[in-house]
Amino acid sequence: MPHYSPTSGLTPRCIHCGYELTGLRVDANCPECGKPIWSAPAQNESDSLAKKVQIYGVLSIILFFAFLGPLAALVAIPAFVFAKRFKLQTSDGLHASPMAVSAVKVGSRCAWITTILSIIWACGFGLFVAFGEFP
Ligand SMILES: [Zn+2]
Repeated sequence: MPHYSPTSGLTPRCIHCGYELTGLRVDANCPECGKPIWSAPAQNESDSLAKKVQIYGVLSIILFFAFLGPLAALVAIPAFVFAKRFKLQTSDGLHASPMAVSAVKVGSRCAWITTILSIIWACGFGLFVAFGEFP
């Protein structure tokens, strides 16, 4: 039997199944359960939610100015939905990464700006229709 002398006192173990991972690459998958070695599922999920909030939020603001106008508010809606889900998921004691928290902040701020701009745009358009000129 070959004997492995550990280089540190800590034996790396799979967070999912506890399988000993000594000598494996950190970006590999666990040979026992097949899950990625360095992943905390809850945090991964909140990270991907945070990314979605940011993408939809920023996208809505871009679309607003690009060509959609108030229709861009429709793209802001998923940003609000994912932001809410993110908050629910990180409220139960699971800590989100600082990166995810700031992504959600940026995304929901953008989504709010789009919503407010859309309302202003719609009001301006309403006045234009009503009075035949921009205010
Ligand atoms: Zn495992």
